[in-house]
Amino acid sequence: MSEILFISDLHLTRDNPGGLERFAQFVSGISDRTRQLYMLGDVFDFWIGDDGAKILGHDRIEDRLCTLSSSGLELFFVPGNRDFLVGQDFASRTGCTMLEDPSVIELDGERILLTHGDTLCVDDIEHQQSRAVMLSSKWRVAFLNKPLEERLDTALSLRMKSEESKQSKPMSIMDINQSHLEKVMLAHGVKTVIHGHTHRPGIHEFSLDGLPARRYVLGDWYTQNSILSYRSGEFTLH
Ligand code: MN
Repeated sequence: MSEILFISDLHLTRDNPGGLERFAQFVSGISDRTRQLYMLGDVFDFWIGDDGAKILGHDRIEDRLCTLSSSGLELFFVPGNRDFLVGQDFASRTGCTMLEDPSVIELDGERILLTHGDTLCVDDIEHQQSRAVMLSSKWRVAFLNKPLEERLDTALSLRMKSEESKQSKPMSIMDINQSHLEKVMLAHGVKTVIHGHTHRPGIHEFSLDGLPARRYVLGDWYTQNSILSYRSGEFTLH
């Protein structure tokens, strides 16, 4: 009986050794029956370019992922808003297949939309604006051409600003916008969405075009592991 796993928002960083340890345990506990692992963004707390993995201490995480992919497990990686600079060199080193955000996969003939989730939070206008700037190739090229130390300083100050601005925002604007979600689902012809980002794990059922629809939200890994598994046609959120 094979199994597919979905995780997101591990926010791996040297600043949180407990998180790194939980990830290491998770990796060593993955069984032979797990066929695919989907990582839906913010696996890393921040990323300063594929050439910066070592100075962040993330070369060890890459090694673990590489061991998994070498053992035959298929790995998929959707970048999040914190690790959007994860690129092709990371993919080659780890054996991950990079996926666009959003991407549609098929499980037993059912179309499933995978997304990190921040693009669904359209009420957070400040986030959407800074996202548009940082995802532009102009910003990306300029940033990646800076020396690693400077990139690290920028990343740390962006992280601090993001933490500060989150404190002043009402919870509601940092969640997904339901009518926007439904538009996206209809546009992609799906009845099921899996995302993270909001750190509010749960299963939301609603009706879309008169048919039952589902939204699975992965939780973060700050204090425990949040994993969605798919086995014999059933999703379970752990
Ligand atoms: Mn996020």
